[in-house]
Amino acid sequence: MPSYQAPLRDMRFVMDEMLDYPAHYARLPSGDEASPDVVSAILEEGARFARDVLLPINQSGDAEGCLLEGGEVKAPNGFKEAYQQYVEGGWPSLAADPEHGGQGLPHSLAMLLSEMICATNLAWGMYPGLSHGAADALRHHGTDEQKATYLTKLVEGVWTGTMCLTEPHCGTDLGLIKTRAVPADGDAYAITGTKIFISAGEHNLAENIVHLVLAKLPGAPEGSKGISLFVVPKFLPDAQGNVGERNGVTCGSLEHKMGIHGNATCVMNFDGATGYLVGAPNKGLACMFTMMNAARLGVGIQGLGLIEASFQNSLSYARDRLQMRGLSGKQAPEKPADPIIVHPDVRRMLLTQKAFAEGGRMLVLYTAQMLDVVEHGEPGEERERAETLLGLLTPIVKAFLTEVGFESTNEGVQIYGGHGFIKEWGMEQLVRDARITRLYEGTTGIQALDLLGRKVLMSQGESLKVFTKEIHQFCKAEADNPALKEFVEPLAKLNAEWGELTMGVGMKAMQDREEVGAASVDYLMYSGYVTLAYLFARAAKQASASIESDDKAFYAAKLNTARFYYQRLLPRTRAHAQMIQSGASSLMAISSEDFGLGFEI
Ligand SMILES: Cc1cc2nc3c(=O)[nH]c(=O)nc-3n(C[C@H](O)[C@H](O)[C@H](O)COP(=O)(O)OP(=O)(O)OC[C@H]3O[C@@H](n4cnc5c(N)ncnc54)[C@H](O)[C@@H]3O)c2cc1C
Repeated sequence: MPSYQAPLRDMRFVMDEMLDYPAHYARLPSGDEASPDVVSAILEEGARFARDVLLPINQSGDAEGCLLEGGEVKAPNGFKEAYQQYVEGGWPSLAADPEHGGQGLPHSLAMLLSEMICATNLAWGMYPGLSHGAADALRHHGTDEQKATYLTKLVEGVWTGTMCLTEPHCGTDLGLIKTRAVPADGDAYAITGTKIFISAGEHNLAENIVHLVLAKLPGAPEGSKGISLFVVPKFLPDAQGNVGERNGVTCGSLEHKMGIHGNATCVMNFDGATGYLVGAPNKGLACMFTMMNAARLGVGIQGLGLIEASFQNSLSYARDRLQMRGLSGKQAPEKPADPIIVHPDVRRMLLTQKAFAEGGRMLVLYTAQMLDVVEHGEPGEERERAETLLGLLTPIVKAFLTEVGFESTNEGVQIYGGHGFIKEWGMEQLVRDARITRLYEGTTGIQALDLLGRKVLMSQGESLKVFTKEIHQFCKAEADNPALKEFVEPLAKLNAEWGELTMGVGMKAMQDREEVGAASVDYLMYSGYVTLAYLFARAAKQASASIESDDKAFYAAKLNTARFYYQRLLPRTRAHAQMIQSGASSLMAISSEDFGLGFEI
């Protein structure tokens, strides 16, 4: 069975030494709650819960899958008990509003816990995973009565939430949805339609499931301007707010899928189910974005957790597995062969995983500071800046970390050789589980359009400038620091190039809109690599300043990882830059009808 230790040393490095989290928390109105003792207790207890409770049921959950019987879904053995422990431990309410039963701690702490959950049992993590977003959507857009009915139960984890968007004929283009909402008694609506691929749509972990459903009102405008949001509980709450009558929403079937077998992915049938409007009529998509943005960060963290899990196990395997001798002679002469960790190519794969795990963690914790300020900061310039950066970085967190997450878990299989392909080692499960993260919550292609089209070009490049200005100031301040020359010089060049590439696409897009779509995924990946380069330069600054401390080995490895990142991963920006500049012509030239096959399909 794979093992896992939460990377607490690295988490503390990023939080305390690099991003000065103690000062960050001290500035937040709710920051007093996040005292050093509380932070330590959460990290240590969270690590224990993930390792001792979730990890042991990860492989068995994958093998067992979920069972649909008589309309009820049974999650794999042990999942319900783990969920009970999670609720009893107060974990779901960590970062929620105290007004609704939350502990009011900063979001960044909940995100660290998420990394540990995703690293040890992604499928289990998907059951509570959407409750926070559902509560958020209701908190921002619900009526007082809806808040009173649902928020505390969702926050405490007594009930779980879902997000019901996708239908058989539409996923990306939600303007096409067919689910209908017809006015019924009082302020209720009768919801009718079929939703597919609904994560945790039905299960036996919690006493009720609160579905947030997109549907169309009679006479609603066509397309995405005519979508409304409804709250549709599995059991209608009674007058005391407890579980009451069964509502007309049922699970029709479970999907048989490539990964996350332990999570129930459901076809949900709404047969005149009672629902209540959340927010204004026809403004459902905007309300749902509250939930989708939280979920997108959550999926990026799934990528990060899986990288860390794959890395830790690959590292220990590479130290144990003996094959061949090192190129420069025997490294372990007392053994029949050297451990494979001596081979440069195995080190290339391990360091790729390590760099993406550490880089991803810095990216998540940097973004989490923005989220903390947006959620808890005082209105004003600092919060506006945080909002801009959060918007810019969310598609990068989601898509970049899941793309490199899939790459890193694949390298995990490669490091294990043929054994990586065999189930019992657990490495192929990580690849299968990682594959979905590039798809749901908006595919990489859709995140890339959001980044380049909506966030960057629609703001005339202003949102990007907020970030590139910060990088520029860092490079300027460190320009004369000899310890950082190898990082700061290439970073400054890339930072300038980022702006130039953006302007180039923007100019071309004025002539031909297809240029945005043609450049977008390469632009997102380029942006991800430059963002991690900035964070690794900051990490290198901290590590070089602390290199003479007692923890020399940690800081030396950190510097080396930064160096590896700059020398072996950052050059990928060259290919992405060239592909961004190559434009749309080769993509759009051949006709959709024949596509050059010479025969009909
Ligand atoms: C296991 C699993 C769990 C899921 N959980 C949920 C859930 O809880 N709730 C929920 O509502 N949905 C859920 N989904 C659905 C998921 O979010 C969608 O599958 C995803 O958004 C893509 O939609 P689609 O499958 O319809 O693909 P399509 O929209 O048909 O896209 C197909 C391809 O076309 C590309 N494409 C489409 N439009 C464009 C465009 N304009 N520009 C460029 N490329 C484009 C896409 O990137 C993709 O590569 C889940 C899916 C799975 C498999």
